[in-house]
Amino acid sequence: MSNPPSASGPVAGQPLADDRRAPTEAGQPTYRRKSFPLRITDLRCAIIGQNPVVRITTDAGIVGWGEAENPKHYLKPHVEFYKPYILGEDPTNVERVMQRIRRIGSFKPWGSAVSAIEMALWDIAGKAAGLPVYKLLGGKVRDHVRVYNGGVRFPMTGSSPQDYADDVARMKASPERFSIIKSSIGFHSATLHNVPNMIYGEVREGFHHPNRGPLTERGLKHIIACVEAMKAVLGDEVGLALDCGPGWLPTDALRLARAVEPLNVMWLEDMLTGDYTPYVMADVYRDVTHATSTPIHTGEQIYLRQNFRELIESHAVNIIGPDPADVGGIAELKWIAEYADLHGILMAPHGIFDGLIGLAALVQVCATMPDNYIAFEYPVGKPAWWYDIVDGLPDPIVKDGLIEVWDAPGLGVELSPDRASAYLSADDQGFFD
Ligand SMILES: [Mg+2]
Repeated sequence: MSNPPSASGPVAGQPLADDRRAPTEAGQPTYRRKSFPLRITDLRCAIIGQNPVVRITTDAGIVGWGEAENPKHYLKPHVEFYKPYILGEDPTNVERVMQRIRRIGSFKPWGSAVSAIEMALWDIAGKAAGLPVYKLLGGKVRDHVRVYNGGVRFPMTGSSPQDYADDVARMKASPERFSIIKSSIGFHSATLHNVPNMIYGEVREGFHHPNRGPLTERGLKHIIACVEAMKAVLGDEVGLALDCGPGWLPTDALRLARAVEPLNVMWLEDMLTGDYTPYVMADVYRDVTHATSTPIHTGEQIYLRQNFRELIESHAVNIIGPDPADVGGIAELKWIAEYADLHGILMAPHGIFDGLIGLAALVQVCATMPDNYIAFEYPVGKPAWWYDIVDGLPDPIVKDGLIEVWDAPGLGVELSPDRASAYLSADDQGFFD
C-alpha cells in the first residue's frame, strides 16, 4: 500500500459567488447550484446510539451525511483512516473520489466505512446541484418504494410453529401494513437452542449465527412446520420471506426449498453463505437454485460489483440483496441492480441496521432501480430518539408498505446538531463543530 497523501488540508478553491443558503418558507436551508469544484475540508465519524455516522464538510458550506449499520462502534477509526485520501478532492466527482478508497475495503463489516463515505458524497453532490440524489442516478422509476419488514419486531415467546404464527400475526397487524414480512428460521434463529436435536453436530454459542451442519429429519420437519404455520396466518395477503442461515448444507437446503414449493414463499435467504461470511460459493448456490422453483436469495455481506459477478452471470440465485451500507454505496448498488436485471435476477436489498440516514439512501437508490426491484428491508431507528434528531422524513414513514419518494436535495434528511448533540459521547463532542 502506498503512503496516503498529505492531510494538511484542502486545496484552496475559487470564491463561490452563488454559495449561499436561502431560507425556505419553513425556515429550513435549501441549496442552490454551486460553482465547481467544491473541496472536501473534513471527514468525521461519531457513534450516535449504535450507528456510526459520517460527516463530510466542504469549502462551500455543504455538509454530507452517511451512516453504517449498528452496532459497529469499532468503525470510527476505520472511517478516519480514509480522511487523508479524500481531503481536498471535489466530492461531486463521486466516482473519482471513490477510486481513491474503494480498493481499501472488503466484505462486511470492512466495506462499511467506504460505503458510508460514498453516501455522504452523493448527499453533497445532490445538495450542490439542488437535486435529490435519485435525479443524479438517472431519475426515479417509481414514486413509491416498497419496503419489507425485517426490523419491526416483537419478542418471540419460543420457537414452536405456534410461536411463529403468533409472531407474524403481530407483524401483520403493525401500522406500516407491510406487504412482505421476513421471518428468521433455522440457523438464523434461536430454534437450534430452543428445540433439542435439530442438528447432528454440537450447537455453538457465539457471534452472529455460528452454527453449520446437517439437520436431523426431525429438525427439518420442525422448520417446515413453522413455515406452514406462518403461511396459515399470512395467506396470500402478505408475502413471507425467510432468513435461513448461513449454516445449511446443500442437501438440506434443497430439501427445504422443495418442501415449501407449494407455499409460494417470497424467498429463502442466505442458506449456504451470507450474513458475515467473507466468501460467496456461487457454484454451490447454483446447484440448489436450479433444482427448485422456490426463489433463492443472498448477498447482504458482499462488497462491490465484482463479487456479485459470478453469482449473477451463472444465475446462481434468483434474488440478490446488497446493502448500500456494505456493498460500497448507493451507485454500487444501482450498478448491480442494472446488471442483475440483464440476467433475470431480482432485487431485495438488505437494510435492517442502516439507521435513518441509511433509510434515506435506500429510498433514493431504490427509486431508480429497474423493474426487477421487489422491496428493501426497512430499517428502524434505534434507540427511538433517532426520530427526534433527523429532519426530513415523512410522518408516518411507511403507508401501506410503501414509502413515498421525497424531493429534497441530496439524501433529503438532515441531522440536527442542536438535538443530536445531547447524544454524543465524550469522545465525539466536536463532531458538529
Ligand atoms: Mg439476512
